[in-house]
Amino acid sequence: ERATALVQDGDLLIVDGGSGVVVINPEDSDIILYQERKLRLQKYKSSIARMSHLPAETPDGHRIFINANIEFLEEVTAAKDYGGEGIGLYRTEFLYLRGKGFPEEEELFEDYREVVEIMQPAPVSIRTLDLGGDKFASEIAISEENNPALGLRAIRFCLREPEIFKTQLRAILRASAFGKLRLMFPMISGLQELLEAKAILDQVRDDLTREHIPFDNAMKVGIMVEIPSAVVMADILAHHVDFFSIGTNDLIQYALAIDRVNEHVAYMYQPFHPAILRMIQQVVAAARNAGIQVSLCGEMAGDPLCISILLGIGLDGLSMNARAIPLVKKMVRAIPMLQARSDLQKIMLLNTAKEVRTYILQQTRKIFPELEERGYLLN
Ligand code: PEP
Ligand code: MG
Repeated sequence: ERATALVQDGDLLIVDGGSGVVVINPEDSDIILYQERKLRLQKYKSSIARMSHLPAETPDGHRIFINANIEFLEEVTAAKDYGGEGIGLYRTEFLYLRGKGFPEEEELFEDYREVVEIMQPAPVSIRTLDLGGDKFASEIAISEENNPALGLRAIRFCLREPEIFKTQLRAILRASAFGKLRLMFPMISGLQELLEAKAILDQVRDDLTREHIPFDNAMKVGIMVEIPSAVVMADILAHHVDFFSIGTNDLIQYALAIDRVNEHVAYMYQPFHPAILRMIQQVVAAARNAGIQVSLCGEMAGDPLCISILLGIGLDGLSMNARAIPLVKKMVRAIPMLQARSDLQKIMLLNTAKEVRTYILQQTRKIFPELEERGYLLN
């Protein structure tokens, strides 16, 4: 935490991203040690990258879709190169955060169309604007908020500013004519909000139809499940959407009352908290009952320690930072579903995040002993 105060100009540094350690002016022996480690890691990464275009199918034949999260158009190619089977989450805030005012429909349309065309025929899930909270825009003339994470963010902001919302929805719908596009609303807290968002989407569809502008009439519409109330209401919400995407970054924040950007409580930000695992399970069960697809796009999806649990819970897809894809695919291809399910049964009987983590660490070390030394298991 105090690195910036301790480091002087001209110091030689080793930054160990795996364990979060910075070595200031290392001894020669440390330099040699780290250079060797770096080389071994690079070799390992190239070896798994060679397999990253194979499907993520368990040895006993269960297929799960592995998609990439992106924030800019420029990341699409990398998403494909790393083996992404689609874009599971396109965060669309970037064009609103450049400090040049709100983007025009045409600019948004061109951007979305390009993403969709590059990925064609693979699916692209575009999330509508999620401004506010940890994603700020100076253009938003909202009053200072004491609790921005609990404030006028995401879908709440869009429903308050329907013209800004409609501009984005028009761009998304128009781009849907050029490939397989899916739309999802962020931060849905209950049915009322979802129905309001869908009503605006219907108005935009009507407008485009009247103007003879083509769009995909069968475009799938889903929601991010990332607020605890949406988890509780998932059985109801499932009847009004085509798919769920579980956003664990926010779900953990709201369920455990831990500010996701506050370093002082970062130690309490626990993906393995039994409450979180139960919530994910509940959402998947609700999706199953309603016959809709359910995937997960929070950081958990790309964490090697979470893969067996998420497989066992039965998600249809995982979406992650593109660089995490090769390893996740390798893991899925090595873990039998039968094993993941039986591990999950044991895990769901544990009462604390610490117990879950210890158990899963033990299991992962057994199947993938090489991950420890390479700094993958330190989350
Ligand atoms: C999430 O909340 O898990 C998520 C994927 O969205 P973001 O990190 O953009 O809030
Ligand atoms: Mg979120």
